[in-house]
Amino acid sequence: MNDCIFCRIAEGEIPATIVLSDAEIVAFRDIDPKAPTHVLVIPRRHIDSVNELGAEDAALVGRLVLAGRAVAATDGIAEPGYRLVLNTGPDGGQSVGHLHLHVLGGRGMAWPPG
Ligand code: AMP
Repeated sequence: MNDCIFCRIAEGEIPATIVLSDAEIVAFRDIDPKAPTHVLVIPRRHIDSVNELGAEDAALVGRLVLAGRAVAATDGIAEPGYRLVLNTGPDGGQSVGHLHLHVLGGRGMAWPPG
């Protein structure tokens, strides 16, 4: 059995609030939201992190970003704006080892991040 929690969400084995889905990606609401909109966009294919992306994944990364933009539009936060985040590795704050793009918005975001 695949013990990757995000693979299992993509497979429908673990419930999640899915907001967007196609053959390559799934987007679902974060279980512990850090902002009024907090959605995770993942590739269906397991990729540990940005560090494991290859040149052949360039189109997939583009799809993740465009899906993030679509989620922001659907949630009505395209204006005044939102943040897309790819935490990578322990120092990057990554806690789940399946590549995921955070879509955060609905409030002003601080900079620099913690
Ligand atoms: P990161 O710390 O960048 O790896 O982000 C992982 C995110 O996954 C965190 O914001 C968690 O709240 C979220 N998360 C963990 N488990 C679940 C789950 N079962 N459903 C939705 N979001 C989850």
